[in-house]
Amino acid sequence: MSLLTVGSVAFDKIETPFGKTDKIIGGAATYITLAASYFTKKNNLVGIVGADFPQEMIDSLKAHGVDTAGLEVDPNGKTFFWSGRYHNDMNSRDTLETQLNVLENYEPTIPEQYQDCEFLMLGNMVPAVQHMTLNKFHKKPKFVMLDTMNLWMDIAMDDLKGIIAEIDCLTINDSEARQLSGDYSLKKAANTIMAMGPKTLIIKKGEHGALLFQGERTFFCPALPLEEVFDPTGAGDTFAGGFIGYLAQTDDFSFENMKRGIIYGSAMASFCVEKFGVERIQNLTEREIDDRVMEFVQLSSFEIN
Ligand code: AMP
Repeated sequence: MSLLTVGSVAFDKIETPFGKTDKIIGGAATYITLAASYFTKKNNLVGIVGADFPQEMIDSLKAHGVDTAGLEVDPNGKTFFWSGRYHNDMNSRDTLETQLNVLENYEPTIPEQYQDCEFLMLGNMVPAVQHMTLNKFHKKPKFVMLDTMNLWMDIAMDDLKGIIAEIDCLTINDSEARQLSGDYSLKKAANTIMAMGPKTLIIKKGEHGALLFQGERTFFCPALPLEEVFDPTGAGDTFAGGFIGYLAQTDDFSFENMKRGIIYGSAMASFCVEKFGVERIQNLTEREIDDRVMEFVQLSSFEIN
């Protein structure tokens, strides 16, 4: 099945307790499409970069099978730039700078050949732009998933609720779930959020794993305890890419299959944090992914009499 991801392709500058980077490649759609490339061959990208974006990275996406026909290059613009600093726990961070640049007035265009994509991933962007993007489909894709962040809850809550009402699956982190719902209990928050529209909800808890909710059913996947975590940037997007890539590969929306998707997403995210930026998820083998998934299986399986 074909997947289309719409989202940011960016330059990031990151500081963690273990080091800092100069401008490196980032962006939600970059992480999502790279992660999904290990699962689906029909992997399309819609986004925008400026003339300063390196052709080698576009070539690397293509080498991963990502169709970049929908990636616009604005010859007069600069690529979106984001800079962040992680706290000592690596679970929380401050945004130091955001330069929208080419994203400022960007209106995604859906190339005709992507109109029939079955899976749509709306990466973190202005909610009104996410909504406008969805409205550009002649026929709604059969599975629409959305990622967002606290910033939009602070400044565009109504727009955000508008698009959330239209989607099948939402991924957010635990503090965002509490902010969106007004509930402290994540179980209550999940029920409140699912009543807003999405039948499926994923609440990410960083190094404490992820929860999957669908109706009355709940599943929990731990995060792998890693010896070294260098950079959590993009872990949420990589998780989303692994999850929706796996669903696109299997075309199975059962709760049991979504549970497997959560494990694959978590496995991909566990690779992402091992190096700065996209480096680790650019160079994975199927064998490494399979071995990592088995570590997840072993981590939480037990027998009981
Ligand atoms: P994550 O760590 O999964 O939340 O995603 C981090 C990525 O999101 C970085 O590579 C940034 O370039 C990108 N990003 C940060 N803020 C925004 C924003 N306001 N709009 C779009 N993308 C963003």
